[in-house]
Amino acid sequence: YTGKSSTQLLSESINKIKVNEYKSIPVVVNENVSIYDAIVQMFLEDVGTLFVVDDNNLLAGVLSRKDCLRASIGKQDLNTVPVHIIMTRMPNITTCKNEDLLIEVAEKLIEKQIDALPIVRETAEGLEVIGRVTKSNITKAFVDLFKNE
Ligand code: ADP
Repeated sequence: YTGKSSTQLLSESINKIKVNEYKSIPVVVNENVSIYDAIVQMFLEDVGTLFVVDDNNLLAGVLSRKDCLRASIGKQDLNTVPVHIIMTRMPNITTCKNEDLLIEVAEKLIEKQIDALPIVRETAEGLEVIGRVTKSNITKAFVDLFKNE
């Protein structure tokens, strides 16, 4: 018997969960595709956030559902305006790494009021997108904790 309270045990388990264990496949789009095509891709891939990459496949920005809605109710031509015009761009992108704690990601999502983070790997040229972590991944971890998995 360890003498630890259930709260201590719970917080110890939470502090062991890494992003790596709960990530999803990233859905990326080239910065030069039209807003229209990005919206179609969002529907087809069933994601709320697209990660935008440049021609070298390095992270250039993030495109959310509401970024697309905002553009759609404006005067921009969705078929000709590229996504890099309306995305949130680097260096203002909140990212994380495979080995980060999931609880740290949860804190970032709340602090920045966003739904998803790209998981990145740093290279000499820039950031490679290797995964995605969203509120859904965190909800899954929450349920697993309850089930004691
Ligand atoms: P929605 O806009 O659909 O509610 P979010 O809450 O995730 O989705 O996005 C809010 C704003 O924050 C959007 O303008 C989006 O481009 C931006 N954003 C989303 N994720 C990130 C991120 N990881 N880093 C920086 N900005 C982001």
